Amino acid sequence: MTFAIHGLAVAPGIAIGRAVIAVSSRMEVVHYFIEADQINAEFVRLCHGRDAVVDELKRMQELLPADAPQELGALLDVHLMLLQDELLESGVKRWISERLYNAEWALTTQLEIISRQFDEMEDDYLRERKADLEQVVERILRYMRGVASPVAAPPASARPAAGAQQGVLSEEFGDEPLVLIASDLSPADMLQFKSSVFAGFITDVGGKTSHTAIVARSMDIPAVVGARSASRLVRQDDWVIIDGDAGVVIVNPSPIILEEYGFRQRQVSLERERLSRLRHTPAVTLDGQPIELLANIERPSDCEPSLRGGAVGVGLFRTEFLFMDRSGKLPDEEEQYVVYREVMENMRGLPVTVRTIDVGADKPLDKAHRDGSSLNPALGLRAIRWSLADTVMFRAQLRAILRAAQHGPVRLLFPMLSSLGEIQQALRQVEVARAELDARGVHYGPVEIGAMIEVPAAALMVRSFLKYFDFLSIGTNDLVQYTLAIDRADEAVAHLYDPMHPAVLHLVSDVIAAANAVGKHVSVCGEVGGDVTMTRLLLGFGLRSFSMHPAQILAVKQEILRADTHKLARWAQGILESENPAEMLGV
Ligand code: PEP
Ligand code: MG
Repeated sequence: MTFAIHGLAVAPGIAIGRAVIAVSSRMEVVHYFIEADQINAEFVRLCHGRDAVVDELKRMQELLPADAPQELGALLDVHLMLLQDELLESGVKRWISERLYNAEWALTTQLEIISRQFDEMEDDYLRERKADLEQVVERILRYMRGVASPVAAPPASARPAAGAQQGVLSEEFGDEPLVLIASDLSPADMLQFKSSVFAGFITDVGGKTSHTAIVARSMDIPAVVGARSASRLVRQDDWVIIDGDAGVVIVNPSPIILEEYGFRQRQVSLERERLSRLRHTPAVTLDGQPIELLANIERPSDCEPSLRGGAVGVGLFRTEFLFMDRSGKLPDEEEQYVVYREVMENMRGLPVTVRTIDVGADKPLDKAHRDGSSLNPALGLRAIRWSLADTVMFRAQLRAILRAAQHGPVRLLFPMLSSLGEIQQALRQVEVARAELDARGVHYGPVEIGAMIEVPAAALMVRSFLKYFDFLSIGTNDLVQYTLAIDRADEAVAHLYDPMHPAVLHLVSDVIAAANAVGKHVSVCGEVGGDVTMTRLLLGFGLRSFSMHPAQILAVKQEILRADTHKLARWAQGILESENPAEMLGV
């Protein structure tokens, strides 16, 4: 039966593929693809886990005291029977050998399929056996944890690239495009899938500018978040269409719907093809104003697509992704230096804005730090507050960045500053970091130092900020969140998240004007920077530097080539005075 699920459109385009449901977060498992020659080894790994549980249960049976309740023995029998169930084994084998899932992923996928069958059983007793099956699988996973392979990106040889999957639906099981559906994915999980095969993503939770959505957008593949119950309603292997422009997911589409979306998919690729011709065209407005188009990146391998997309530098390197999912063992100075140097080298002498770590809120360091660790994480110990609370960690990062500055122009950027005290402490830490390198006789390079303006307090005291910093970068994602008091990751209030709110526009335009007045560089690096519906308005406010996902650069450039900044300045003033800017902008 065909049905539609509505969510939030976060990354445009159309994806058509088979559903891959990531298991519930209760069972923490890693998901990755294996190479074809690892199928046997993966299956052996699974069998070892299963055999260990069988041994354990048999031992428990032997040791059962004579007066133990009868049900206990019966329960162990049921568990042993489930463990040796043919449906479990053959299904898991199939996911491993045909889909190249790692063993844990295959096991939990099959668990989900069998669980649904239990749910549909009439008999209460049998239906309740689902909980036993879950316990058995959890036991196997526990045994396997110690022998799990490291998380790896799916090998290109194992599956076609995501882009190549869009379009024709192949009859051959192994070549079918896949779309990932999860209740939630952390930004780190998402990053792990960055070079993966998925043609699209759907999550039950999340807001438009949650970090998970941002990473999805940076992958340039269609995504819908906040789709509420998608991971429960869609079944493993269902055909699914993701309409990333409308925020709609169509499950089990009819042939006519498939044809319609196939047509739209082809139109999207034609448009991309047309835009790609602008790659080497300088970003200059009709009245001759050169505009700087920069890239937002998360890791060194993002540099190549940035350069290909026509970026003239990096406007935001979100270094926190280096620190995530490491079970508390954070990267030391040397490890960070190697990564930052790689980015500098990849960007071949172009400027790179390295933002110091911004963890917290919807970017937890790892699973242990998710939820519950703070009463109100978005207002808690995140970003610069976290760095200033652990200056040893902070200075290790600063030293690594200073050292990387020998390999190209670095702009050092602090996130979420809100007061003079924080500014002074952060700048002091840079001095100490330099002194530490001097004491060790280690070389480092010059850096420009900048502040992110992403808290209303910072925007309102921007003129003070400008006395201390060489440049500013406006983080609209957080500026909207904190100005409007709307959690950017909460889909329940996503409809209130409005970058065109007059209060936000006033703050943004004032920061740009203040920086321009003293001749200091200012850029917008939040999602608004890559939103073509906002390009003309930002130009009208006087913005001359935009930072965005590499995939958005050409569309923004197209807007710039058609713009006349003189005319836009007058028009933007009118919008600023309006009570309903969105209506005037026609969006
Ligand atoms: C922002 O807040 O706009 C920003 C760019 O930072 P992040 O999205 O990483 O919080
Ligand atoms: Mg931010």
